[in-house]
Amino acid sequence: MDYKASENIQDLQYFGEFGGVNPSISDSSTYTFLSAKTMFDTFEGNTEGCYLYSRHSSPSNLYLGEAMAQLEGTESANIYASGMGAISSVIFQLCNANEHIVCSRTIYGGTYAFLKNFLKKFNISTSFVDITDLDIVERSITSKTKMIYCEAVSNPLLEVADIQSLSKLAKKHGIPLVVDNTFSPLNINAAKLGADIVVHSLTKFINGSSDCVAGAVCASTDFCLSLKDVNDGAGMLLGSTLDSVRAASILKNMRTLHIRIKKHSENAHYLAEQFEKDGLKVVYPGLESHPGHKTMKAQMNAEYGFGGLITLDVGSLDNANALMELMQKEKLGYLAVSLGFYKTLFSAPGTSTSSEIPLEEQEELGLSQGLIRFSIGLDNDIQKTYEAMKCCMEKLGILKSDAALV
Ligand SMILES: *Cc1c(COP(=O)(O)O)cnc(C)c1O
Repeated sequence: MDYKASENIQDLQYFGEFGGVNPSISDSSTYTFLSAKTMFDTFEGNTEGCYLYSRHSSPSNLYLGEAMAQLEGTESANIYASGMGAISSVIFQLCNANEHIVCSRTIYGGTYAFLKNFLKKFNISTSFVDITDLDIVERSITSKTKMIYCEAVSNPLLEVADIQSLSKLAKKHGIPLVVDNTFSPLNINAAKLGADIVVHSLTKFINGSSDCVAGAVCASTDFCLSLKDVNDGAGMLLGSTLDSVRAASILKNMRTLHIRIKKHSENAHYLAEQFEKDGLKVVYPGLESHPGHKTMKAQMNAEYGFGGLITLDVGSLDNANALMELMQKEKLGYLAVSLGFYKTLFSAPGTSTSSEIPLEEQEELGLSQGLIRFSIGLDNDIQKTYEAMKCCMEKLGILKSDAALV
């Protein structure tokens, strides 16, 4: 991969109206026109560079959109008020009533609930499949299928999708491959690998400060414009528009994304290796024991590492809850959902972010009740963090203490 997304983001220059080093924030919901004709043309979508109404587009969202397009290497990108706002817009734009979606069976709980429950209203059905089994993916495609949907690195099981192969399959059947790349911005350039549409929850690593929710769709200019169409654009009509002040603050945070991702990955990799040596059931795409390790290596941008998420199975929900409460007490992180914060965040997905998935299905997927998902923080001394985490596990009997072994 020679695609240098971070440099491209660094090189994007926007100046404020007084020469400020950051662009001015657009503080308007509506925009004046000098002629009535231009206003009409803008409604028709025929005038570039003209703003109409901020639900349609705003300068601040366009700046952030350009940065997101640079990140993924797509022609264009639209900004939304949340990751789910972006995801639901894409799905509604591509799918009509009575049609069908092929989707990975391990995905974010909200996306799962949207596909499985909400889309029933429109009789849109979804086949949830093991996305790493290309035969099953292909066999699930019917004449009604409108997209293959997956996460580059899945939530919460950290399965790695083979984007190049999935893209070939999608092309063969004339349908788009939609990839949610929330877990691996910079680590994986999904569009460069063949994804037609890349969605992101900016709420996580990209913003990185856990102070707002936002989302993005990175795709061709045609698709991005279709989402904004005043007559039938799902983005425009569902109304999930991000406020300009937030867009501006996310853009500023994006300038340091490359540094943060490297540190998240370095820390997560270190902990995963140590936990594995300790005999714990740890899952991390950077470990050779991970079934998707080779796929990840083949498609990642090596300098950003394998990402900031790890999972640890501590045997039971009681163990998981006790460990998370103790780690929080010891200031090792917060018992909280979400990811990409400077502080380590941990939660038990079975009873939180994936609780939308029925218990039997969770078991089938390998989503056990003792599973803890860690979004590893930017700790300066990760060895110290490791020692302290180990101490917590020894206290609770999840790990036998070294002293007890002699
Ligand atoms: C959080 C998350 C979403 C949803 O994003 P919001 O900003 O919370 O709407 C979608 N996909 C993945 C992988 C996520 O982690």
